[in-house]
Amino acid sequence: MNQIEHIGIAVKSLSESNGLFEKLFGEAHYKIEEVASEGVSTSFFKVGSNKIELLEATREDSPIAKFIAKRGEGVHHIAFAVDNIHAEMKRLKAAGFRLLNEEPKRGADNKLVCFIHPKTANGVLVELCQEMPNAENYDQQKSSL
Ligand code: ZN
Repeated sequence: MNQIEHIGIAVKSLSESNGLFEKLFGEAHYKIEEVASEGVSTSFFKVGSNKIELLEATREDSPIAKFIAKRGEGVHHIAFAVDNIHAEMKRLKAAGFRLLNEEPKRGADNKLVCFIHPKTANGVLVELCQEMPNAENYDQQKSSL
């Protein structure tokens, strides 16, 4: 695993929280992106060399809606950059971590992502993310395992 790629924060209203975090960081978000498959709308802030992702639910059955109903707004996940998400998923699975998806999924910000169940990581939802490889590299990476 490499450096922290970003920290995800669950919010009720992206438009309200964009204003709040803009005040906090002294800088506006640089992008907004919807990930329809996950039922979330996201916005990204740069803070020095770090990134913060705000997540708002776009549907009632979205994982973010469930999280907020249960725990309220706040830090939702920590994402780590990885070079080969398939290899990392295999390694973590063998080490006893429960993965929330068996295949990498397309996440926000042109990333392939996989989440690790917080129950197997001391309550922390960990996201692995890898910059989206082109199709050819992706097949190579997968078949090399
Ligand atoms: Zn994330």
